Amino acid sequence: MELRKDPITRSWVIIGDDVGEPPPRPQACQFCGVAAESAQVVATLPGVGGNPWSARSVVHPQALYHVEGDAARRGEGLYDRMRAVGAHEVLVENPRHDGHIWNVADNEVEQFLRLIALRIQDLKRDPRLKYVSIFKNHGEGAGQEFDHPTSQLTATTFVPRRVLYELRAGRDYFQSKERCVFCDIIAQEERQNVRVLEMRGEYIALCPYAPRVPYETWILPRTHEAAFESTATSRVSNMTDLAALLRRTLQRILTVAAAFHLVLHTSPNSQHPSEALGYWQTLADDYHWHIEILPILEAKAKSYTFKETYYSPLTSETAVKRLREVKL
Ligand SMILES: [Zn+2]
Ligand SMILES: [Zn+2]
Ligand SMILES: [Zn+2]
Repeated sequence: MELRKDPITRSWVIIGDDVGEPPPRPQACQFCGVAAESAQVVATLPGVGGNPWSARSVVHPQALYHVEGDAARRGEGLYDRMRAVGAHEVLVENPRHDGHIWNVADNEVEQFLRLIALRIQDLKRDPRLKYVSIFKNHGEGAGQEFDHPTSQLTATTFVPRRVLYELRAGRDYFQSKERCVFCDIIAQEERQNVRVLEMRGEYIALCPYAPRVPYETWILPRTHEAAFESTATSRVSNMTDLAALLRRTLQRILTVAAAFHLVLHTSPNSQHPSEALGYWQTLADDYHWHIEILPILEAKAKSYTFKETYYSPLTSETAVKRLREVKL
């Protein structure tokens, strides 16, 4: 596998010719029971409620990125390419095969969130890595890879395009207003209270003003913080509220969609010794971590699979009304 940069959009693409068939799916689940012991475990969090462990990270069985070597970024005429250096891990959310975020205890979800924070912290110590992405694809329509409740992590030598857009927009807004655009959004949404789904302690769930898909929902900390791992490690007691809000929000979303994408957007690695640092001098003040949930509605899927311009057949105000009414 190698990385190629599109010279027009400046986004990196991971590319390679698939050699042969994908390996056969193991008969038994590779993430629970005895089989789990054979996986290349990266980190494990202690169990809660009598389980031997609560959440763990393992090397992805078909990793797209590998930790060895350096990126060897080079040009070829006007094109840019580099080796697929980085990390690719499966984050096992729960030891139980049916232990989904939306049906387990809050302290189990909390352990999973803590695992995410630990992995981001650890990978950000590697100066080669510019960004750590956390994502979950749930349901067939979302391209779910494993039956066991899992999320995935990739640590890359580049910042993914969508995050780059957000970073630039955050920086530009801060330059003109000296305020964080996300904090301003939260303040206005709390004031208007027409797109707020739920508030829980330090956290808010809302349907964004201009959603890309129906029922798109964001979860953000109400107090400014650029890096998820800082919130998770410094305000330990508040993680229960985040766990509960995430669980309740997914419960609501699953009543309208069988599948969803979930991503965590946090600040990039500021240890990275690149010119980009000057560029992100105000990063701690202008970026604000958040979780984005993008439900996939079967019937409407067509309307946004080809997305030059996003089209949503449902307003955020109607979406939030329906989600609020869900009996939890
Ligand atoms: Zn399993
Ligand atoms: Zn903010
Ligand atoms: Zn985002």
